[in-house]
Amino acid sequence: MIGDKSHKHVENDDQYKGLNVNEGVAQPNTFNEDSIKRFLKNKRKKLLTPDAYVEGILNGNITTLSQAVTLVESAKKEHQEIAQEIITKCLPYSGKSLRIGITGVPGVGKSTFIESMGKYITKRGGKLAVLAIDPSSERSKGSILGDKTRMEELSSDPNAYIRPSPSAGSLGGVARKTRETIVLCEAAGFDTIFIETVGVGQSETMVHSMVDFFLLLMLAGAGDELQGIKRGIMEMADAITINKADGNNIEKAEMARVQYKNALHLFPPTDSGWNPKVLTCSAFHHIGIDKIWDTIQGYVDLVKKNGYFQHKRNEQSKFWMYETINDRLKSDFYQNDALKTMTKGFEQKVLGEEMSSFVAARELLDFYYQSQKNNK
Ligand code: GDP
Repeated sequence: MIGDKSHKHVENDDQYKGLNVNEGVAQPNTFNEDSIKRFLKNKRKKLLTPDAYVEGILNGNITTLSQAVTLVESAKKEHQEIAQEIITKCLPYSGKSLRIGITGVPGVGKSTFIESMGKYITKRGGKLAVLAIDPSSERSKGSILGDKTRMEELSSDPNAYIRPSPSAGSLGGVARKTRETIVLCEAAGFDTIFIETVGVGQSETMVHSMVDFFLLLMLAGAGDELQGIKRGIMEMADAITINKADGNNIEKAEMARVQYKNALHLFPPTDSGWNPKVLTCSAFHHIGIDKIWDTIQGYVDLVKKNGYFQHKRNEQSKFWMYETINDRLKSDFYQNDALKTMTKGFEQKVLGEEMSSFVAARELLDFYYQSQKNNK
């Protein structure tokens, strides 16, 4: 990713005088993959019983929490069985946090913002967990988001827990693991959860489906295309914040704020009854962070009063139930060994016009259902 065009910082362009942004550092190896490998290699370390994990989590033990999250992320069947039991047992203790989604293109200042806002929260006695959904981590085998080196101060804060994006599987699978990790973090006593994602694709929709508040970070004068922000993402945002409002970029940021505010007026009213706000901040200089926090609190007050908060969480729970069914059906189907060969053969028949796509699909599905029955 580094050196790739999408990673160039637009602020370094001559037209933004006074702002100079360093290239990001190359990412170390995937954090989670390593931790899973270490976990699996360490034969002496026996798995705990689900109850022992739950007890550790409820006591706020971060090591136990991390181990349980590794089980959630593992593809091994025996790990998944324990993980599901832990999640079920933690569920009654979950749900009490405020879940905030944070998105924006690479370079907009997400990690700087999370560090600044994170410190603001922990200084006030809050406990913050930072999770990430990084769709590129599977391809690049390196997670862009949630890397501890990016949030140095926060990662050494005892009241903050930073967990990088799960790296294996489909976006839906990665997102589901993050959704499950939220439950464990809440049971461990974290009252604010940040979920970070890069604003370049489908991942925002996934994040949106698991948070109470969705914050979009933008840059002044970069143009929507440059920022890769689609209208749909702006529509999802409960607040837009123009970051890097400092030095001689303050005026431009203010102009951008007014422009985005006007643009939001053209969108249909939200179901929540909330008017999305547009703010400016400087994550680097910790300016405007308090106003953003107040805005989030204002939103929560409104939607808790009008019932939308619970309504949205219910809808999200339903969404994740169906999402998990879809995921499971798909993976069961495609992982069926006999079907794998058969599917390839049928594909050739469809290409050779010996069989229609629909008949091929129906016969494959019939075969799948039959094999399920025989297994019973
Ligand atoms: P991310 O890729 O979205 O996580 O962005 P980073 O937080 O890594 O920030 C990218 C670059 O922008 C870094 O060089 C930061 O120091 C810089 N940056 C972040 N926030 C600000 C800000 O508020 N003002 C200025 N001037 N620079 C910032």
